[in-house]
Amino acid sequence: MERIPCNTCGSSEFKPLFSKSNHKNEVFRIVQCKRCALVQVSPQPSPEEVASYYSEEYFLKRSDRGYDNYFSDGVRSEISRVFGLNLKDLDFASWEKTLSSEKRCLDVGCAAGYFVDYMQQRGWDSYGMDIAEAPVKFAREKLGLKVEQKDFLQWKENPAEKFDLITLWASIEHLHKPKETLEKIHTLLKPGGRILLSTCKWGVLAKLQGPSWRYLNVPEHLYYYSLSGITELCESLGFEKKKHITYGSGLTARKNAGFLYKILKHLADPTVKFLDQGDMMALSFEKK
Ligand SMILES: [Zn+2]
Repeated sequence: MERIPCNTCGSSEFKPLFSKSNHKNEVFRIVQCKRCALVQVSPQPSPEEVASYYSEEYFLKRSDRGYDNYFSDGVRSEISRVFGLNLKDLDFASWEKTLSSEKRCLDVGCAAGYFVDYMQQRGWDSYGMDIAEAPVKFAREKLGLKVEQKDFLQWKENPAEKFDLITLWASIEHLHKPKETLEKIHTLLKPGGRILLSTCKWGVLAKLQGPSWRYLNVPEHLYYYSLSGITELCESLGFEKKKHITYGSGLTARKNAGFLYKILKHLADPTVKFLDQGDMMALSFEKK
């Protein structure tokens, strides 16, 4: 476990918020930067320590952190459905139309490559990268995708091959060096290229629920951005914000939910989206 300065602003002064334990009864401290208000796990486990949490089990067993067989057709089609919704909400198609026919995209933290596959079917030359072994193997062998098991920051890219689009779907909160990752993405994009990212949002719902907030998965989720926090970070690195949406009321879909719960979720999800108070957010930025 290592004490590190704030990834956004470099300050070492933090205000403690609360502690949270994981399924192994390991306790992690959640703190907030006194200067820029970024919420983070501190001290943090090293990348090597965190790697042990992303075993195959993470993708196969249902828990509050992992997936109920991430490789199943059901999960895959649900994830693709959410990609479709996010792209629609971010007006992706109208920008996509302005591009030439040779479009390259890269999904960082692509897991089993579902977005890589989605974009390939949309006519893009599509690439993916992830550090976890099992999903990358699945993406390459079962789906035949151009996906590599690599740490994005260690990757020695060919400087001539730039991308029109780089995506970080629910992955920035997992990264040890999110700011450095965004900086590298900036160098890899063509001028006018875009980044799309989604992450859980530190906002009203998170503050109300505190340690029981559904996205407080420690230590996999290391950083919790507010809408203004992630926007200002990207703007400081040379990106211009094009659009954002927030969604998710915190009420998760339950298989055996009662009638009242279903009604409540049915009402709450559109309401928080309308009020821009969801606990998830998706954003698009353009390289200036
Ligand atoms: Zn800070």
